Amino acid sequence: MKKTAAKNIRSGECFICHESIAKAQITRHLGKCIAAQKPLAGEAIKMLRLQIEGRYLPDYWMQVAIPGAWTLDDLDSFMRETWLECCGHLSCFTIDGTRYAYEPFNESILGRREKSMDVKLYKVLGIGAEFTHEYDYGSTTDLVLRVVGAYEGAAVSGDVQILARNNPFKFACVDCGKPAKQVNAGYGWLDPKHCYCTACAKKSDADEGMWLPIVNSPRVGVCGYCGDAYDECTEDDV
Ligand SMILES: [Zn+2]
Ligand SMILES: [Zn+2]
Ligand SMILES: [Zn+2]
Repeated sequence: MKKTAAKNIRSGECFICHESIAKAQITRHLGKCIAAQKPLAGEAIKMLRLQIEGRYLPDYWMQVAIPGAWTLDDLDSFMRETWLECCGHLSCFTIDGTRYAYEPFNESILGRREKSMDVKLYKVLGIGAEFTHEYDYGSTTDLVLRVVGAYEGAAVSGDVQILARNNPFKFACVDCGKPAKQVNAGYGWLDPKHCYCTACAKKSDADEGMWLPIVNSPRVGVCGYCGDAYDECTEDDV
């Protein structure tokens, strides 16, 4: 029987078993899928399992596994590569009221005080900890992160491992109804009223430089965000 969950916009794919799973079920589901995995060769290390989602756009979400001995800086780099990076903006985490910044800013005595991101995850994050991340202090993309679990496992190829991720959303071209590929970026976010297929985007009188590809990220349509290395941002699309 075909799973209707695939149609649910809040569903995502478990990257271990490739089933479509509702967002509300994913933590429990991954617990089982991780436990059923064959142990990988290599030394077992403590992995943290994090749920990451858009603070105001929670339908964009993922769960990842990251070694607990890695730093906030490593986590920030991963999120930039996967979901955020457009032009090297500043970023920071806030954990228990303390800001850990990409470029820490400290003012004298009563002013803002920030720490460096060069701190190991297990030193600042326990199971159940909830914290936030901001990328770009102007057109900010706000994320909420939660430590949903920890387990012993081998790090996969030295990367943060994406365990599950929301399915990409589909938008229709406002002119012809075909699948939209571009959003007019003059509005600062992905407004479905400004989504077009490639052909209609070309015909539109909007400024050419204003088009951004519709990608699977809470930063879609913001600043100059074109997606991660795996999203194609070819001339044909722009
Ligand atoms: Zn699974
Ligand atoms: Zn930017
Ligand atoms: Zn169209």
